Amino acid sequence: MAQNQPHFLLITFPAQGHINPAFRFAKRLLMLGVKVTIATTISAHRKITKAGRVPESFDFALFSDGFDDGLDRKSHDTTVFMGQLRTRGAQSLKQTIVSNTENGTPITCLVYTLLLPWAGEVARDLKVPSAMLWIQPASVFRVYYYYFHGYDKLIGDDCNEPSWSIQLPGLPLLKSRDLPSFCLPSNPYDYVLPLFKEQLDKLDSEDKPNILVNSFDELEEEALKEINDKINMIAVGPLIPSAFLDGKDSSDESIGGDLFKKSKEYVEWMNTKPKGSIVYISFGSIIMLSNKQKKAMVQGLLACGRPFLWVIRDEDSNTKGDKLEEDEEEEELKCLEQLEKLGLIVPWCSQLEVLSHPSLGCFVTHCGWNSTLESIGCGVPVVAFPQWTDQCTNAKLIEDVWGTGMRVTVIEDGVVESEEITRCIEVVMGGNEKGAKMRKNAMKWKDCAKNAMQESGSSYMNLKKFVEQVNGSFAQDENRDLE
Ligand code: UDP
Repeated sequence: MAQNQPHFLLITFPAQGHINPAFRFAKRLLMLGVKVTIATTISAHRKITKAGRVPESFDFALFSDGFDDGLDRKSHDTTVFMGQLRTRGAQSLKQTIVSNTENGTPITCLVYTLLLPWAGEVARDLKVPSAMLWIQPASVFRVYYYYFHGYDKLIGDDCNEPSWSIQLPGLPLLKSRDLPSFCLPSNPYDYVLPLFKEQLDKLDSEDKPNILVNSFDELEEEALKEINDKINMIAVGPLIPSAFLDGKDSSDESIGGDLFKKSKEYVEWMNTKPKGSIVYISFGSIIMLSNKQKKAMVQGLLACGRPFLWVIRDEDSNTKGDKLEEDEEEEELKCLEQLEKLGLIVPWCSQLEVLSHPSLGCFVTHCGWNSTLESIGCGVPVVAFPQWTDQCTNAKLIEDVWGTGMRVTVIEDGVVESEEITRCIEVVMGGNEKGAKMRKNAMKWKDCAKNAMQESGSSYMNLKKFVEQVNGSFAQDENRDLE
């Protein structure tokens, strides 16, 4: 390692939506001459290896969280998993930092993604500068910040009343359906909110901590401003492989990004379709749709009659116990035959390749933040179909702030009906004024995203400045030790 070369240790939670932006962030660091070591679990590393790509340019510091074959949400206890991740992860981080110091390659900064509040503590104990990499929009960080600074009391059981809304500083007026689902009284995932609280409490105890945000200045101008003079937000995104933004680097070293390189029938199929004609449907790496919702999607797509590419992951192909009766199965088979004439169902795809394909017309998305940024980076208008967590806020921003898509309306039991799916796809893809405006906005934001990541662009400069600052203060600390 060259003298004074910055060395970042980057720890990521072992989920697809965390690993992808973390790896892409790591690549950006490498481009700035930073040495990068990635700390993650054996299970995450196995997934990458299975996908046929272990990025050569990263060093790994792997640890076992006790779930080396991956977490099965149905049979494993999430609380046990989170506990083991914490104790074993903290221990491994400590060892990695100490051994690098001994080997003359000291860690100059620790960066950690969501749900790992203990990582910052390890850095503080060992006097290593640290920063959080926030992989959701700055707007969502703000919601959590204010939620844990008194505004939680305003979100009561009446929040589903049509007249209810909340005004948080730096954000548009939000209805309950726009809030991260964990902040609502109906949230069933008890273990999540305490982790966010712990994280924010820790940040509160630091002197103006830096939060690196996967966003860019123009996209979230207000939300990215300093919060109460206490939190410094630094936009470093969109974290999308540069091949898709500025054509510089043709490798996407995110998990699964390369999975289907060898069998890209769907790309060949897309090549045969007219420009802007295909509807792409994906709900990310975690969500499983109920059979009822899938059925509505099938009917909605058939009614549109447009070519489509739909990702249904293997574990999602037979969902949630709401099994079909025999006659329903028969009906489904008939629908499937009709569907096959129109489009393709795949278990996974290289999403960025799909989104940047000229035949793509719109993206029916669950609004995961990576998918949202990828749609922005590729200039694709969306049908916003949020399910939980930050996706609800992301959908609000898409529809009302950036104007790049239309949000579906959910009926009472949480299902979106087929007519509604057809209606939204037709608005986004059709010849009407509304759709044309969304497509125009999508192209506008694509240019802004590209500009932000270019050399001399806002996010590029923000990250460069951050690296220089961290390195400067680390060198100063070292000198102080020597005096
Ligand atoms: N993804 C992909 N192929 C697929 C489905 C998803 O490459 O068939 C990638 C997608 O590009 C994104 C990530 O998986 O980078 C999903 O992250 P997101 O934040 O959108 O959703 P999550 O999976 O966390 O719900």
